[in-house]
Amino acid sequence: MTLEHVIEAEKTATEAVKNAKSLRLQFMKNCEHQDVVEGEYGGNCTASPPFRVCKLCGYTEEGWYCGYTLLNGNYPEVSRDEAFKFVHMFLNNEKVADFKFGRYDPFSVDKIAEVR
Ligand SMILES: [Zn+2]
Repeated sequence: MTLEHVIEAEKTATEAVKNAKSLRLQFMKNCEHQDVVEGEYGGNCTASPPFRVCKLCGYTEEGWYCGYTLLNGNYPEVSRDEAFKFVHMFLNNEKVADFKFGRYDPFSVDKIAEVR
């Protein structure tokens, strides 16, 4: 084995992750978000706002009720831990507002690096 083998393997892995994230974004974009839950408000030492996540694709929006953009229906509330199991991409309040007013496209390929 040489260093070149390692570098080649790392490059292949990076490309595979990028491809998987791109597929995830496409999947989120095409999803109708029919199975959504709301992670409850975390009001301990640091107040964490409630968030909504689609259990089918992992699309997530964080924020208070007026902040939701695509996930703006009535959804069952579950614990934060339960809801976090489905999260793949998090939009904070600022990003949700930007998305709502057309300043940010969470499904843009440029945003792949922000997807976890
Ligand atoms: Zn969905």
